[in-house]
Amino acid sequence: MGGRAGCDVSGAAGSVAGVMAAYPGQGFPGAGQAPGAPSAGPYSGAPYGHPPPGGPYGQPGGGPYGGNAPPGVDPEAFSWFQAVDADRSGYISVKELKQALVNSNWSTFNDETCLLMINMFDKTRSGRIDLYGFSALLNFIRQWKNLFQQYDRDQSGSISFSELQQAFSQMGYNLSPQFSQLLLARYAQRSSNPSIQLDRFIQICMQLQSTTDAFREKDTGLVGNVRLSYEDFLTMVVTRMM
Ligand code: CA
Ligand code: CA
Repeated sequence: MGGRAGCDVSGAAGSVAGVMAAYPGQGFPGAGQAPGAPSAGPYSGAPYGHPPPGGPYGQPGGGPYGGNAPPGVDPEAFSWFQAVDADRSGYISVKELKQALVNSNWSTFNDETCLLMINMFDKTRSGRIDLYGFSALLNFIRQWKNLFQQYDRDQSGSISFSELQQAFSQMGYNLSPQFSQLLLARYAQRSSNPSIQLDRFIQICMQLQSTTDAFREKDTGLVGNVRLSYEDFLTMVVTRMM
């Protein structure tokens, strides 16, 4: 783990050439390969700060995995896992995850985003993730955080309207200012200058990607329009609900 600050995820933001440019999100975080580098700074909330020394419970050797990271698991992820697994069940629940993740303004991650992410790495549909799922989830979050920091151009810790517009365009989405406004109206924190925190950014991008994928499946001619029957539409919605 060399602190490769600013791990290059820019490939994820590039638009796909040609006609596919209308459909971005190819290289979105999700595969979970790139080992993101944790960094401090304005985003220094857990789990982005420092791994807890031996977890808050201070007993090396406790927990279902014993005191050492099993083979193939990053020791730092293991450390975090032990800290986040508050009831020491060997699994991370939505509630435990929520308690561990904070935005740059110290607000906790919202329920929907935690649930979306748990479901993404919950291979057994049990509503919780094990150490390996958690380790993949950490990478996933780090990649999103890197993207978020990249798009947070003024480093305010949140994404403003203009930053969101730029983010969409760099990800290859062709969306109107009205659509960004709609998202801000729904997801931004109420203030004179509405902006989006990391948790909402992850949620928006995951849902945008998922619904775009559903649309693209129907848009066989890649023209940006589809004809949908009522039941097609319902099926799309139901199968994409995670
Ligand atoms: Ca647990
Ligand atoms: Ca900003």
